[in-house]
Amino acid sequence: MDKLFENYSLKKHNTFGIDVKARYYYEFTKSEEIIFFLKVNKISNIKKLILGSGSNIVFTKDFDGIVIHPKVPGIQIVKETTDFVLIKIGAGEIWDSFVNYCCLNNYGGAENLSLIPGTVGATPVQNIGAYGVEVKDIIEEVEAVNIETQEITKFKNKDCKFEYRNSIFKNELKNKYIITYVTYKLSKNPVLNINYGKINDELKKNKNKNIDSVREAVINIRNRKLPDPKKIGNAGSFFKNPIIDNKKTQELKKKFPGIVSYKVSETKDKIAAGWLIEQCGLKGKNYGKVGTYKDQALVIVNYGDATGNDIYNFAKDIQQTVYDKFGIILNMEVSIV
Ligand SMILES: Cc1cc2nc3c(=O)[nH]c(=O)nc-3n(C[C@H](O)[C@H](O)[C@H](O)COP(=O)(O)OP(=O)(O)OC[C@H]3O[C@@H](n4cnc5c(N)ncnc54)[C@H](O)[C@@H]3O)c2cc1C
Repeated sequence: MDKLFENYSLKKHNTFGIDVKARYYYEFTKSEEIIFFLKVNKISNIKKLILGSGSNIVFTKDFDGIVIHPKVPGIQIVKETTDFVLIKIGAGEIWDSFVNYCCLNNYGGAENLSLIPGTVGATPVQNIGAYGVEVKDIIEEVEAVNIETQEITKFKNKDCKFEYRNSIFKNELKNKYIITYVTYKLSKNPVLNINYGKINDELKKNKNKNIDSVREAVINIRNRKLPDPKKIGNAGSFFKNPIIDNKKTQELKKKFPGIVSYKVSETKDKIAAGWLIEQCGLKGKNYGKVGTYKDQALVIVNYGDATGNDIYNFAKDIQQTVYDKFGIILNMEVSIV
């Protein structure tokens, strides 16, 4: 059933726990509801924001417009062969519950993305990724409602223009389409991807190597490294890992031999943003209301009653400090609203 609220607090709808209000807040559970709502209500002239669990957003002020929250439930196998399954999931389902479901059924492909907070509907938006896997590797199709025309559109994987923490939904189609369903393709003969990060080390503690043990390893590593948003407000990695020319990496290596870099192409390297921030002496800093997490410099945390502006201004200070030391621009991964 759909519901509309006025002057609605978003404090419980963002993982930084920022207390701002939305002029209108609308939630729905079926595509027909949102289509009908958009047809009868004239919202073309007011600002719109689509909100999942708010785990990748910083609100800097009250939202003078309508926040649309898809709560579409459901999980349905739409095709199955001896090799794979296609599973269509409602946008409102919690991503990690779906990963758990996949692991319980031995459907491989999502296990490295265990414990990433948020909804299924948001997964294509920034092409969530962790431990060598991106969700684009398993997305078959994204179904969305066009806010302007109310038509249902189906985007195939290549239509989504997936890139590192990026997609068409974060750019030209931002807040123009409401994602209602995502269909994922999972393997029934899982091939484990365990060469990234500390997964292999963690797995040595476990006799079995299967998707369940990979999920367990990822959960253990993440729990050690990342703060639980229920206890300390945060939005995970605040910045993207910058991608720079490998010539620049070579220059930086002369001055900073320990720089952490990964080759992404013949000419480009990805640099660990957390390492850059840490080298500026900014890991585990507590400035009262805001700071960085003790175990991961890339995570900005709300230590008290920080406002969105406190967080945003602190993020800008980090950007400047890193730029002054390394000449590298850190781009924010989170959406600033
Ligand atoms: C502790 C922690 C760890 C994290 N770790 C990772 C990680 O390892 N890898 C990673 O990639 N991310 C990570 N994140 C970020 C976050 O979990 C993901 O970006 C997640 O997909 C956001 O989901 P959400 O439902 O909270 O989206 P929101 O924060 O509500 O929205 C994010 C963006 O998607 C848009 N959006 C949301 N739902 C829809 C929809 N149905 N239709 C259209 N647009 C929509 C919003 O407008 C916004 O632009 C982490 C966050 C936290 C707090």
